[in-house]
Amino acid sequence: MNKIDIVWFRNNLRTEDNEALSQAVQNGNKILALYCLDPRLFKISSFGFKKTERFRAKFLLESLHDLQDQLDKLNIQLHTPSLSIKACFTSLKEAYSIQNIYMQKEWTFEEQSEQEEAKEILPNTEWHEYYDQFLFHPEDVPFETHDIPMVFTQFRKSCEKKASVRQPLPIPAAISKDRQVAIESSIPKLEELGFDRFERHPSTAFPFQGGEIQANKRMDYYIWDSNKIEFYKKTRNGLLGKDYSAKFSPWLANGSLSARVIYQEIKDYEKEVRKNESTYWLIFELIWRDYFKYVSLKFGDSIFKQTGILDRVYDWSSNTKFVNEWIEGRTKEPFVNANMIELKETGWMSNRGRQNVASYFSKNLKLDWRIGAAYFEAMLLDYDVHSNYGNWMYVSGVGNDPRDRTFNIQLQASRYDKNSKFQKLWLSPTLF
Ligand SMILES: Cc1cc2nc3c(=O)[nH]c(=O)nc-3n(C[C@H](O)[C@H](O)[C@H](O)COP(=O)(O)OP(=O)(O)OC[C@H]3O[C@@H](n4cnc5c(N)ncnc54)[C@H](O)[C@@H]3O)c2cc1C
Repeated sequence: MNKIDIVWFRNNLRTEDNEALSQAVQNGNKILALYCLDPRLFKISSFGFKKTERFRAKFLLESLHDLQDQLDKLNIQLHTPSLSIKACFTSLKEAYSIQNIYMQKEWTFEEQSEQEEAKEILPNTEWHEYYDQFLFHPEDVPFETHDIPMVFTQFRKSCEKKASVRQPLPIPAAISKDRQVAIESSIPKLEELGFDRFERHPSTAFPFQGGEIQANKRMDYYIWDSNKIEFYKKTRNGLLGKDYSAKFSPWLANGSLSARVIYQEIKDYEKEVRKNESTYWLIFELIWRDYFKYVSLKFGDSIFKQTGILDRVYDWSSNTKFVNEWIEGRTKEPFVNANMIELKETGWMSNRGRQNVASYFSKNLKLDWRIGAAYFEAMLLDYDVHSNYGNWMYVSGVGNDPRDRTFNIQLQASRYDKNSKFQKLWLSPTLF
């Protein structure tokens, strides 16, 4: 039987700075790249929302098309079956003798269960897993996982002092044609995943496509071509347009872009053009991203529990009427409504918007924060399990915020949407 190695892509949809791919290329065996479009990605979750709604589904398909193009240049074929993990690995096992599987290491519940299913089917295969989603590699941070501090500032300062960011790996060289595994495969269309085709909303703040090439274009534009990065600290709380913040998150979330590559670009920019508070602040935010990953590593499944990582009990409600009013943008707060309509229409919401609507959901309406988090999971273009559940816990008083604040929505609206331009964009005049 044909002996092959598999690079199993999940949230690392890139060829640059991808250790799993680089190691597989070095090994010398035949290589097949795999992305499994398991129907579970689109099933209804226990809170009644799809795991992945149309915005991220479309972005994912764009990312896969781009990944296929990039892998083609390396003579590696991407196989994208719309099958459950079990069915996918069972059919591969019937056709090939699978020697090694290379992949990014994931630790959250659903990702672990998928891997267990695959391992049961392939008991004799060697598994090689790499932490490729971090800025600071887990082997380099000055903490054991169980000692990760509860306060972000402590974590950040220690990492900045004692750890360094590894150099990104280059795109590996192309393999010889005789190492290619030819297999009939095509990336499905959006309709085949159960969604209607749709056009991007003309007012979206994220008018970009998925994939490594687009991610790099955006990074070049934001850092080098427009120099927007020099003003990031002043603009990052904005609400309107594509440039108030970097907009890297959807590519970071599915791994089309590596945090280490962004870091390296910023460092180069600081050397060659200018270093200021803003250039540092983008790195500061990337450390927040890392922090939530470390929190999830430390606390495991507690990040999905109502009592969160603090094990704190509140009297949460699940009033369907209130939940639906929040989703539809029909609450008493126009600023919350405008943000929720933006999310529903585009799959995007600014960080300022997210903080406000989440605070309103859990602190004012006293609704179970996990319902809000599950809705975000469905809708967000940039859904990332660690950042989403970490931030929701933080805002809802069961996570890492030592202050446990409640946002004053009207004050926030008057500060960040002074002339109501944002609210006017998303609310019809009768609602505002
Ligand atoms: C309730 C809530 C839910 C959230 N859910 C997600 C999510 O599912 N996925 C996600 O990527 N971010 C999430 N965030 C964090 C943040 O809102 C987004 O990362 C940010 O708005 C993305 O826009 P940007 O790329 O332009 O960010 P920028 O301001 O340009 O920041 C650059 C990068 O830093 C990281 N970053 C910035 N702020 C945060 C933060 N608070 N937490 C973690 N990383 C951060 C992101 O990777 C971001 O791309 C959530 C925040 C809240 C309050």
